[in-house]
Amino acid sequence: MRILIVGAGISGLAAARGLLSAGHRVTVLERADGLRDAGGAIMVWPNGTTVLRDLGVDVAGLGTRLSGFAMLSARGRQVMTMPGEKLEARLGAPCLCVPRGDLLTRLHQGLSSGTVQFGERFARYRQQGRTVRNETESGAVHTADLLIGADGMWSRVRTALFGAGGPKPTGTATWQGLTRSTLDLGGRSLLLAGREGKAGLGPAGNGRVWWFFDVPWTPGDPAGSPLDRLRRRFGGWTWPVPDLLSELTDDDVQIFPNHRHAIPRHWGKGRGVLIGDAIHGMPPFMAQGANQALEDVSLLLSLLAQGEGRLTHYGPQRHHRARLASSIAASGRFADGPLSMLQSEPVLRGMSAAPDAQTTKALTTFLRATSNRLRAA
Ligand SMILES: Cc1cc2nc3c(=O)[nH]c(=O)nc-3n(C[C@H](O)[C@H](O)[C@H](O)COP(=O)(O)OP(=O)(O)OC[C@H]3O[C@@H](n4cnc5c(N)ncnc54)[C@H](O)[C@@H]3O)c2cc1C
Repeated sequence: MRILIVGAGISGLAAARGLLSAGHRVTVLERADGLRDAGGAIMVWPNGTTVLRDLGVDVAGLGTRLSGFAMLSARGRQVMTMPGEKLEARLGAPCLCVPRGDLLTRLHQGLSSGTVQFGERFARYRQQGRTVRNETESGAVHTADLLIGADGMWSRVRTALFGAGGPKPTGTATWQGLTRSTLDLGGRSLLLAGREGKAGLGPAGNGRVWWFFDVPWTPGDPAGSPLDRLRRRFGGWTWPVPDLLSELTDDDVQIFPNHRHAIPRHWGKGRGVLIGDAIHGMPPFMAQGANQALEDVSLLLSLLAQGEGRLTHYGPQRHHRARLASSIAASGRFADGPLSMLQSEPVLRGMSAAPDAQTTKALTTFLRATSNRLRAA
């Protein structure tokens, strides 16, 4: 098949790799002049690393293979811990903390030159019988048998297929960054919760630490030094939060306002389908964006391998798993209002009795429930 993919993000590049290996003719259009490798780091859970392995992506040297996970209260009480090797043993693949740009670069390296056409912005499409005629803003025309919209949260392909229905703000924002740091996290990813919000840190390889703070946010919130605001809000928290905040400068802090789509049951129309953030944009909490995008790619490839008629099963088989991932990701709203009680010390103290085995089981259940790939194994 001739396949046109719009967007060279993680979902578009991963799909391109898999479709080329399956013998399709693939072109990727990317509106930017090069890879958009900005952003913090991404947690690739075992379902995501399984898909990367299926796609032949060598993950050696990519970020950090996490040795474990811990959740702490703002005052330093250990709420839960989980050894990385237990999760890896249960699900058959490691969990990685990878700078987003490094993953994009690794995915792009596997494509033949010319597959991605940079500086080309998808504008519109028209279905003509069994083909799709696509036009870019520069006036170029690409005719294909299948159009894949991998163009992110504010997807133009989604609008072209389904009309209005963009993402809505969730009421929180993630202040985040990827910085060189002297902090030694012992290979673990940490999540901290308190009435002021949530924070997380993870080792992303080569002396870099990825970190985030989830706080209430509405468009038009007052500007000013982001770091001063973070220090006022989180400066009294337990190690390593104050140490991290003292190492940062304002230039290190990026704001990522959180948005979320309503996820429909059908993810395509005619000869067009959507993958990744284009269909299920969600907040980054629980790091599901990239993993769900890789899940989409995996199912799409497997259905296409069975025949293009099977593509009608794509949305119906994926939507409830992506919806579950999205609703957990949106639980970051607990940072706001009376719901923040759920993150208070007494409530977190009550949760802290859970043994490692129980928390590992709970996370395994969550990852299986949000994965088509692990269930197919
Ligand atoms: C610059 C950037 C930084 C990010 N940083 C983080 C982060 O720090 N942490 C995190 O958890 N998630 C981050 N994300 C989101 C994360 O990458 C996604 O949730 C996940 O990887 C799924 O990505 P995707 O490929 O579906 O969409 P995206 O990563 O959004 O990629 C979509 C691509 O489509 C291109 N595009 C959009 N419209 C058009 C068009 N009309 N024509 C052609 N191309 C188009 C965009 O330029 C982009 O390259 C970031 C995304 C971007 C684009």
